[in-house]
Amino acid sequence: MSKIIETIDYFAAGSCSSHLQRMFKGVPKKKISFPAGVFLLKHRSKGYILYDTGYSPAIQKPSLKYWCYGLATPVTMKSGDRIDLLLQENGLVPDDISYIILSHLHPDHLGGAAFFPKARFILTQAVFDRYQKRRLKDLIFREFLPADFDSRLEVVEPQQVEAAFLYRKTVDLFGDGSIYLASVDGHAAGQGCLFLPEYNLFIAADLCWGVDLLPYTEQMRLLPSLVQDSKQDYLAGVALLRRLLADNHQVLVSHDPTERVKEVLHASRNFSENFY
Ligand SMILES: [Zn+2]
Repeated sequence: MSKIIETIDYFAAGSCSSHLQRMFKGVPKKKISFPAGVFLLKHRSKGYILYDTGYSPAIQKPSLKYWCYGLATPVTMKSGDRIDLLLQENGLVPDDISYIILSHLHPDHLGGAAFFPKARFILTQAVFDRYQKRRLKDLIFREFLPADFDSRLEVVEPQQVEAAFLYRKTVDLFGDGSIYLASVDGHAAGQGCLFLPEYNLFIAADLCWGVDLLPYTEQMRLLPSLVQDSKQDYLAGVALLRRLLADNHQVLVSHDPTERVKEVLHASRNFSENFY
């Protein structure tokens, strides 16, 4: 039987960097680059769906706000790193994107949203609520969203635990069992995370910085702890990831290293081939 999600592709639309020892106690000195990951799903009937959109190059423009952001999170964005240009290299034009699921509204996730004039945007209810009552700490850079963003929004609320994913309440996005969306607090309120049963894959936004960094979670320093929306919920999100991994599900987060993402996508494709 052919799959509903026919393909999953991955792009890094810019990156930011940090020093491991500034994030966690008791770790070796190491500078790490965190790609702003974008996933492209090809749905059999709904067309192309993006999960997040990476950075906007505009974040490198001179501005006090962007300067402050860059101080904590230095951004690297080459010309050509824009998600619409990366897609173009792969033969897609912006109008080909029918849906964009924004996991949350930090600048490394919503930055490319304005490049897709026909896409409908999908947010969880909790992300939408925060968007409406945004505070400085929420780091929602509204200027990178298209002017007509509100009129293209579809807000969804995970309502029940489905047999396909027993760990959390989800919503079956298109009612065909291809994409289940969960809402997970912690790093940001209600981050939209995806479970794709055909690939046994959970794509988990910023539930952690990288799956390989999960063992350091409890050693997180004060400053990175303070930038999380809720440290307690963050730890619960990490526990969810650990459980999924222990149960042999594949897990990816938005800032996993590109090589890891490619390996996991490769393994997930093999799963799907064996499964169908
Ligand atoms: Zn974030």
